[in-house]
This record gives sequence, structure tokens and C-alpha cells, in this order.
Amino acid sequence: MPEQASGRPLGLFGGTFDPVHFGHLRLAEEAADHLDLDRVRWIPAGRPALRETPAVTARQRLAMVRLATSGNPGFEVDAAEVDAARASYTVLTLERLRQIKQIGQQRPLVLLLGADAFAGLPKWHRWQSLLDLAHIGVAHRPGFPVDTASLPGVLEVACRDRFCASPAELRESPAGRIASFAMTQLAISATQIRALLARGCSPRYLLPDEVIAYIRAQNLYPEH
Ligand code: ATP
Repeated sequence: MPEQASGRPLGLFGGTFDPVHFGHLRLAEEAADHLDLDRVRWIPAGRPALRETPAVTARQRLAMVRLATSGNPGFEVDAAEVDAARASYTVLTLERLRQIKQIGQQRPLVLLLGADAFAGLPKWHRWQSLLDLAHIGVAHRPGFPVDTASLPGVLEVACRDRFCASPAELRESPAGRIASFAMTQLAISATQIRALLARGCSPRYLLPDEVIAYIRAQNLYPEH
């Protein structure tokens, strides 16, 4: 990876989004502000690697992400993982993105993760290669400390000397640095929303009304 960086960083936000909710939306919005991102590219996983295949199809999860993000000109949606035959491994996604002409090898990329996902990084396929391909932006999440003392040992070692003193450092190289930021703490999870819907309770004000309307129209997450 060349050391010469060019352009403002592009944020990459992958997830299962089963369903997408305001925790995700605030993370992307606040990351764009705190890390001075050019845009945020949302990348719904087709077949998540580390969890059971969701009952809701990848196409339906993609449709919900499109509904949730369409009003924001700073967001774009990448549908390529949804139809991929393989499991959605982030390292392969990053390699794919580096091959796209408009992105190339020099554009700073920032992989956005909640603190829970960051702490679980050592379970990811070829996780040590991720920082060769992108920076990592870690959003604080209720219950998941980001301080190095709380990280698993192998991750703490891999991250040593990589934390940025200022997010401006993300512009200086295409990959390899870590920036954490304190986003508005929203203890919302997709698990909680699925559980509410299964009990017949309202998920209103946890996710956009358009997404709730889609869930109702498609009869996703039925009551049982
Ligand atoms: P589930 O409850 O099904 O595990 P989730 O709500 O954690 O889902 P994911 O699609 O797994 O959502 O998460 C995508 C990314 O968003 C992950 O990096 C995760 O850490 C982050 N994230 C999800 N919810 C929040 C939140 N409330 N605050 C901060 N980050 C979040």
C-alpha cells in the first residue's frame, strides 16, 4: 500500500442491519462529522460470516438500508455484498473496493465499527490485514470500553502506536491508523428491535418510520 494519501477519507460502514436503526444512523452521521469524512458508504452483509444467516433476506435488509439512508446526500449504499456467493468477509470487501478506479490505492478509507465489533476483531477472517487496507474508526457504544487496557491482548498489541491523537491524521495515509470517537450513546440494537416485534410491541422511535412501514408491509419479524 503506497504511503501517499489523496483526498478526504471515505467512511465504510458494514453490518447485518437486521434491521437498520437510529444507532447505526447516528454512528454514520457522527463519524462523518468527527472524522471529517467525504461520504459514508453503507455495505449491508449478504451472508454474515460470524453469525447465523438472518431470517430476513439480504435483499430485504438492503431495501431497509436504502429507505433509511436515501434522504442523506452524504450517504451511499454498496449492494455488492448482498448477492455475493461467498460469506461477507470485510477483508475481501476492502480488497474489492481498492480495485474500484474511483477509490484506488491512495484514497484514505475508514472502516467504521461500534466498540463491540472492534473488540471482536481478532475473530475476523485475516483481521491482521484490515489495517493494511483501511483505517479504523471506532464509535463508543454503551457497555463496550475502547481503552487499550480493556481490549483483548492480541488486539492491544496490533493496535499499539496506531491510535490517532487527532482525526486529521486519517488524511495523511491511505490506511493503518485507528481513531475513536464518542458518539451520542444510544443503547439500541437490532436484537432488541427483533425481540420487541416478536412480542407484538412497538419499535417506534428506535428506527425510521419508513423502515417500520416496510417491515409491516413485508411481514418481517412476525409476532410469535
Ligand atoms: P444485532 O443486535 O443483531 O447484533 P446490531 O444492532 O449490533 O445488531 P449490526 O448490524 O450488527 O447491528 O451492527 C453494525 C455496526 O453498527 C457494528 O459495528 C455495531 O457495533 C454498530 N452498532 C450497532 N448499534 C449501535 C449503537 N447503538 N451504537 C453504536 N454502534 C452501533
